[in-house]
Amino acid sequence: MANIPISSSELKTIVAGLHRLARNLWWSWDQEAQEVFHDLSPRCWQNLYHNAVAILNELSEYELRVRLQEPGFANRVRSVLDRFDAYVGAPNTWAAAAAPGLAGRPVAYFSAEFAFHETLPIAAGGLGALAGDHAKSASDLGLPFVGISLFYREGYFQQAINQENWQTEYYTELNPKNLPLEPVLDPEGKQLVCSVKLASSSVNFHAWRVNVGRVPVYLLDTNRPENEPHFRDLTLRVYGGDSTTRVLQEIVLGVGGVRLLRALGHAPSTFHMNEGHAAFLTLELIREKLAAGSTPADAGAATKAQCIFTTHTPVEAGHDRFSPELMSYAAPGLLADLRIDAGQLMDFGRVHAGDPRESFCMTVLALRFSRAANGVSELHGQVSREMWREFFGTTDADQVPIGHVTNGVHLVGWMKGTVRRFWRRKFQELNPGASDLDWIGGANSAEFWTKVTNPDVLSDEEIWSLRYRLRRELIEFARRRLLLQGHSLTRRDFITFDGFLNPDALTIGFARRFATYKRAPLIFDRFAEVVKLVKDTGRPIQFIFAGKAHPRDDSGKAYIQKVIHLSKFSELVGHVVFLENYDIHVCRMMASGCDIWLNNPRRPLEASGTSGMKTTSHGCMNLSIMDGWWREGYDGTNGFSIGEDSHSPDVHEQDRVDSENLYNALTREVIPMFFDRDGNGIPRAWIARIRRSMATLAAEYSTWRMVQEYTTKYYLGH
Ligand SMILES: *Cc1c(COP(=O)(O)O)cnc(C)c1O
Repeated sequence: MANIPISSSELKTIVAGLHRLARNLWWSWDQEAQEVFHDLSPRCWQNLYHNAVAILNELSEYELRVRLQEPGFANRVRSVLDRFDAYVGAPNTWAAAAAPGLAGRPVAYFSAEFAFHETLPIAAGGLGALAGDHAKSASDLGLPFVGISLFYREGYFQQAINQENWQTEYYTELNPKNLPLEPVLDPEGKQLVCSVKLASSSVNFHAWRVNVGRVPVYLLDTNRPENEPHFRDLTLRVYGGDSTTRVLQEIVLGVGGVRLLRALGHAPSTFHMNEGHAAFLTLELIREKLAAGSTPADAGAATKAQCIFTTHTPVEAGHDRFSPELMSYAAPGLLADLRIDAGQLMDFGRVHAGDPRESFCMTVLALRFSRAANGVSELHGQVSREMWREFFGTTDADQVPIGHVTNGVHLVGWMKGTVRRFWRRKFQELNPGASDLDWIGGANSAEFWTKVTNPDVLSDEEIWSLRYRLRRELIEFARRRLLLQGHSLTRRDFITFDGFLNPDALTIGFARRFATYKRAPLIFDRFAEVVKLVKDTGRPIQFIFAGKAHPRDDSGKAYIQKVIHLSKFSELVGHVVFLENYDIHVCRMMASGCDIWLNNPRRPLEASGTSGMKTTSHGCMNLSIMDGWWREGYDGTNGFSIGEDSHSPDVHEQDRVDSENLYNALTREVIPMFFDRDGNGIPRAWIARIRRSMATLAAEYSTWRMVQEYTTKYYLGH
């Protein structure tokens, strides 16, 4: 492209375009867009944690205009903005062809958490990551879609580790001006305000709009001056406070979310509840119908026809339950609106109507008023059918109408920049003249991954050199993080931490929430053997851990303590490290740089798991218990399994067997294959396995496939 001098009117358009771009998260999965923000100030890019809005706020209007006088830079920005407009306006999307009936009747997707980007930390873990990826793929596919969640202005906690290796939590307030958020306005340009009844008060809320490519996600916020102080802080933190906070937050999410959609003029075709937290939306839909003159029976049936529900966990604590006393306190508004008494309300959330020992379960409410329900992997579907037999009045699990859609990830969004550039180049070589929109679809196709993993297209040497580069990038990131975690920056610390971790070692990553069923310290059941393995200078291995425990989960915190404690033993120091403050960015760094992604949950409690899916495009491989998605993904050639497709009913026996199988898989398969090098120093068998992992898993476990499956199976089923 020729360097066209920039006129002052065009300058204005480009500056406005950059601001629009910074407030649309599309930039975070478009490599050139990301590089524009990076290049405006590489130091701010790092220190402001990749926050495009904050970077633009850092630059004066004057600086920005001057920088755009550099023709090469102006050209790059022009081309990014053109592609952005093409993306947002593209008429020929998958959904336009496959689901034309949904035009103008979006899917409304309710989730208590969404993880989009590290600068908007309003999620606690995998549920949020899944919701964020669902929205991004809905955008890529052109699906009419609108998301609903809460704006937690203190987000999820930040993690620090104290002298006793114990997790402590701290919170920092988010500033909407520095975030990719826009206030939701009414037709007069004032902040749109809606209200819900909470306890005996009427509570107002406004909303923030997050632009996720083509789709909006609205975040509800009760922080308004006219609300009583405890209601202002209701949406302060993700899963913050006690069960009173929880039930009130969930009324805002469900009831308030429907009201906001109506105020914005939306008539969704389907309401999708991502986990039970959102289930109060069903009661608002019933209220609307009663107010319009329906009978209660018709209102219930019509609501059921509008809703679908995804359950995410077989872990008991994962299902919200509220006592009758709490419901009476929190929800008098629902009784009046629905013209029912407290007992009738409780029965909506009970398996057995009238049983006073049963609390109000949000999962039951969601199941009661959904036309379809699903688990998030084949095994989890099976386990859920077992779990909810009584609710459906049958002893035969096969009669329970709960299906499954296996989770996925937004593949391109999870790619590290290095890797996105790498595949983008390969894509262009294979498809000369293809457009940017073709790339998104291409990267999500099995065909691309089959082609590109052919040795004629991609050599072993190229894969191995990419692996080395990614491992080094992770190790350098980890050394810097460890240095900052130490809080004492002396010259000696630089030397010490730069000696940690070995770029030639087989690098094993474990990064997840420290829920106890995930068994983070399982490998250390064999402490003496692990010491031998990390000390083997001929075949060195090393471990990188990261993860947060829920603030009230002391057993999870004890697991963190154990891992950090062991990482300080002289035998392990520098070979086992714990990175604080696990989040999307840490996840991307680890899922790209590690060689092995370790997953050893107590089967069948990992309903799906998604972090392992983020590794495949990077050439990192899974070593996992046959639980959740891996039970479907593993085929004997595309990664490694720990044990068989079964488990002992006795948990102690299960832990013992799994720890033995983990050790055996490592020492008999993983380590020998990684270090089996040919005359050129290349581990041929290992790389063949990487090819299989890419070819069989990348496209299949993407939200591109998953959202298509939800659409054809469920969204169009009405
Ligand atoms: C992907 C992701 C998760 C989910 O991890 P799993 O344990 O595999 O379910 C959790 N937290 C963050 C920050 C993630 O990016």
